[in-house]
Amino acid sequence: MSKNIPYKTYLEESELPKQWYNVRADMKNKPAPLLNPETHKPMTAKELSVVFCDELVKQEIDDTTPFFDIPEEIIEFYKMYRPSPLVRAYCLEKALDTPAHIYYKFEGNNTSGSHKLNSAIAQAYYAKKQGLKGVTTETGAGQWGTALAMACSYFGLDCRVYMVKCSYEQKPFRREVMRTYGASVTPSPSDTTNVGRKILAEHPNTTGSLGCAISEAVEAAVSTEGYRYVLGSVLSQVLLHQTVIGLESKTAFEKIGEKPDIIIGCAGGGSNLGGLISPFMGEMLRKEANYRIIAVEPASCPSLTRGKYAYDFCDTGMVCPLAKMYTLGSGFIPSANHAGGLRYHGMSSILSQLYEDKYIEAVSVEQTAVFAAAQKFARVEGILPAPESSHAIKVAIDEALKCKETGEAKNIFFGLTGTGYFDMYAYQAFNDGKMSDYIPTDAEIAESLSKLPKV
Ligand SMILES: *Cc1c(COP(=O)(O)O)cnc(C)c1O
Repeated sequence: MSKNIPYKTYLEESELPKQWYNVRADMKNKPAPLLNPETHKPMTAKELSVVFCDELVKQEIDDTTPFFDIPEEIIEFYKMYRPSPLVRAYCLEKALDTPAHIYYKFEGNNTSGSHKLNSAIAQAYYAKKQGLKGVTTETGAGQWGTALAMACSYFGLDCRVYMVKCSYEQKPFRREVMRTYGASVTPSPSDTTNVGRKILAEHPNTTGSLGCAISEAVEAAVSTEGYRYVLGSVLSQVLLHQTVIGLESKTAFEKIGEKPDIIIGCAGGGSNLGGLISPFMGEMLRKEANYRIIAVEPASCPSLTRGKYAYDFCDTGMVCPLAKMYTLGSGFIPSANHAGGLRYHGMSSILSQLYEDKYIEAVSVEQTAVFAAAQKFARVEGILPAPESSHAIKVAIDEALKCKETGEAKNIFFGLTGTGYFDMYAYQAFNDGKMSDYIPTDAEIAESLSKLPKV
């Protein structure tokens, strides 16, 4: 009875999405607004525009407009590497001997190696259109910095990246890719900002964190004429741009006459998962369809499964607006042996609200199990997955094995966000049997949560 479903389903160029979908428009309980860290009042567009580009501020605070036109210049860029394929994982199904049908949307087919380019090009476009000279940002594992460097070079913008120090040292090739595209890369914390100098004075041996690099990048933006700060995840504008992933997926599923039963994505700050599920979530919110949606996070940085839904700082230096989100506390730093990315202490406010309202489930997985899943996937499907993406692979395999027990032929769909060529130290640790798991204790999380702002 099985239909002849192709290994890869591509869309025609003419079928590429022309608008991004803003899922907030269909949410009854809207995500809580960003707050001014001093007054605790909602941030106004004027306040936000000191830090962010004007058009992106509009997108950030608009929770009623369902669709935003994708500017022609961005569609032209998307055409260089989109549509991305919807792949039926026949070889993985066979290896697992499961009756389930497994699909994935592969976002790693561009030089940045991940989905992050989808938002980087949009943010660079709006910065250019505003007549800015450049942008600043942070990067952890390096995918976002690479994507932004590519987008900025395309539009002729200066790009200054603060890279978490341990990644700067562990991933010199990532750094060189960014420099090849013309970005300047500074290890964070650095002595180029007040907040960096302060953190270095307090913790001279720190290997850095995303929260700290964000503070430095924001300070650099607001203190340099003609610059704004851009962020690669967490913010609602980023989820908006990433909906090209979900919109393309939905059209591709319609083309093959199928629907996913379970949708799985890894969750760091929530941008790929939010973008992947948005159009499907829209149907759920409008009561037109039902899907089981699973967010997968690392056991070493479990913001949804063990964090608290509260207002928190987005950065270590406490210079950014407060966001209401599932958080582990802005001072939370995952154990140094955690290799798989997804290290941000908080979660997109949109996903946090959807999780609070029980539209999505969350599970946490340990990194050795994640790399075992990555290895299994690579050996049969050919793609070397990013450790982040492999969190979704792990849970997709678990669900497929459950189907084997029950004999159900469910459609399992996951987001394969990128490739792992720059994560070979982590793969090496796994291959050598030297990778270990670390799960923070309740006391560690409670300690970090005790420093939440009182709102
Ligand atoms: C950044 C990144 C992620 C996690 O970020 P989200 O905002 O949660 O999507 C996942 N996979 C890859 C390959 C990434 O580069």
